[in-house]
Amino acid sequence: MAKKQFKAESKKLMDLMINSIYTNKEIFLREIISNASDAIDKLHYESLTNKDIKVNKKNFEIRLTPNKDARTLTISDNGCGMSKEELENNLGTIAKSGSLNFKEENEHKKDIDIIGQFGVGFYSAFMVSQKIEVISRAYGSDEAYSWTSSGIDGYTIEKAVKDSYGTDVILTLKEDTEDDSFSEYLEDYRLKGLVRKYSDYITYPIKMEVTHQHLKEGSDSEYETHTELETLNDMVPLWKRDKKKIKQEDYDTFYSDKFMDYEKPLKVIHTSAEGLVSFNALLFIPFHAPYDFYTKNYEKGLQLYSNGVLIMESCSDLLPDYFSFVKGVVDSPDLSLNISREILQQDKNLKLIAKNIETKLIKELTSMMKENREDYEKFFKAFGANLKFGIYDQFGMNKDKLKDLLLFYSSEEKKVVTLQEYVSRMKEGQEGIYYACGETTGKIDLTPQVEQVKDKGYEILYCTDYVDEFALQTLMTYEEKKFLNVAKDNLNLDTDEEKEEVKKLNEDNKDMFTMMKETLPDIKEVRFTNRLKSHPVCLVSEGNISIEMEKVINAMPTDEQIKAEKVLEINKDHKIAKKLEHLYETDKDALKDYTKILYAEARLIEGLPIDNPTEITSLICDKLAEE
Ligand code: ADP
Repeated sequence: MAKKQFKAESKKLMDLMINSIYTNKEIFLREIISNASDAIDKLHYESLTNKDIKVNKKNFEIRLTPNKDARTLTISDNGCGMSKEELENNLGTIAKSGSLNFKEENEHKKDIDIIGQFGVGFYSAFMVSQKIEVISRAYGSDEAYSWTSSGIDGYTIEKAVKDSYGTDVILTLKEDTEDDSFSEYLEDYRLKGLVRKYSDYITYPIKMEVTHQHLKEGSDSEYETHTELETLNDMVPLWKRDKKKIKQEDYDTFYSDKFMDYEKPLKVIHTSAEGLVSFNALLFIPFHAPYDFYTKNYEKGLQLYSNGVLIMESCSDLLPDYFSFVKGVVDSPDLSLNISREILQQDKNLKLIAKNIETKLIKELTSMMKENREDYEKFFKAFGANLKFGIYDQFGMNKDKLKDLLLFYSSEEKKVVTLQEYVSRMKEGQEGIYYACGETTGKIDLTPQVEQVKDKGYEILYCTDYVDEFALQTLMTYEEKKFLNVAKDNLNLDTDEEKEEVKKLNEDNKDMFTMMKETLPDIKEVRFTNRLKSHPVCLVSEGNISIEMEKVINAMPTDEQIKAEKVLEINKDHKIAKKLEHLYETDKDALKDYTKILYAEARLIEGLPIDNPTEITSLICDKLAEE
């Protein structure tokens, strides 16, 4: 029989498994058992919706059979089984391409616990096996096939004999080495321990013939043995267990096993409800965003069970978009088993559960923020952008629920603060909540517009996320305080005399500014300001679109281009102000050149591109070379 080749990426992963120096090889059993359980789930679920499938729920089981003579460990299940094509497709290719990407990204971190924590599935069995045979018969078919592989150089598939539907995975264990004892996986005590450690919550019985030895009756030296079929697992799923008896470690293992994360969860929320609708839920907030979180490939959702039977792998209706990072399981007896996805969406009970979960999440996040600020800040670093998007999304429908979960960097505190904290220490007479936008907090701190506001002793929130300003504009106010962009809005910081003084100065120089504006077609107005302390120039915007928003929207891959209404402001107390006035009297051409240079400077400070860089550089050089 000709050997078939594995797909390239499967080969790589397999190589990693076979040559693994990974010490926690024992997790292979968890992986194989979890596949068996999934296969039973699948058949179980189908039997509920398809009357032609007649299976007795009570007979579902997973069986472990160690055979010391043959050095094999067999894991059998009576689940859905696999056809010839399925054997080929499922075991010849690796399903979770994510784990491979992950491996490549982390190639340099040799000791990272990818295998144990990521759950690489079936292939992990190659860590302990020299050969693997999978004999499977799909439910409803009378043909069985055997898939065999000794590793990297390929696999064979041939016809086989199997009495009933389901799958046998037969592992021929590797020879023992100095570092590893593979024979251990043939010992009852070891297998029992592993099932209890990793697979206790599997909802089908995991059975094994266990040999017991006791003294023969009436003798004190002669032993007799008998075997007994034992169920090794507790079968109560974790989410249905008494919280008090669950250790943090149990949650962590469950999470990384089920949701393929190499890190522990940041927060576990184990909750249940009774009343209009009953359910148990086990929710997890991850430590970090999955690698595809901010891409369109990411799918939100919770696993949905009805009384312990998995009915949907990922039910997206259970989570609002702004909580799409939450992972977990929901189990409710109040959901009909044989309902389709479309009908489920309309289900009243499902909606109630979703509402309940949302409220719970908000409550838990709020208390994390109050009681464990350090963790909350980590959370916000990973998922804050998602919450801010939630504020802005759907025309601000959810803004009131989310506004108190936000954090922004504060110019005063030099760390992130809540809006509540900001407002509570606002100065008397302060008109609003000041914010400034830019690429990094460091860059914002250096902008001219920020300088004056800080100088007057006001706190400013620094917005570095592209969605920040959209979120603040959607909020409009917080506790009736307006959000004011220091580079855009009139902050009204001046005294009446100061205002009068600038106004007069601008009127006196009206003709000069008209001329300067004509040199700059992009600009709505040129004027003197007293808002700059040491800087010569800055750009501010008027109207609804700020300069930051212009940058963000124009960077998006759409045809839509927008423009903020820009005003070039010149520091009235800077030496350059006098120079301009002088040039207007003596050399109008030079004034135009100066205007272009000043505008380019203002754009540079804002991080905006300059359309005519060669012209500007020549102009600057000419001025530099002037005697
Ligand atoms: P995963 O379980 O994450 O999909 P695996 O590599 O562990 O990845 O398994 C690949 C596929 O092989 C599974 O998705 C499933 O379709 C199939 N499979 C594995 N074990 C069994 C089994 N015992 N019964 C039926 N199908 C199985």
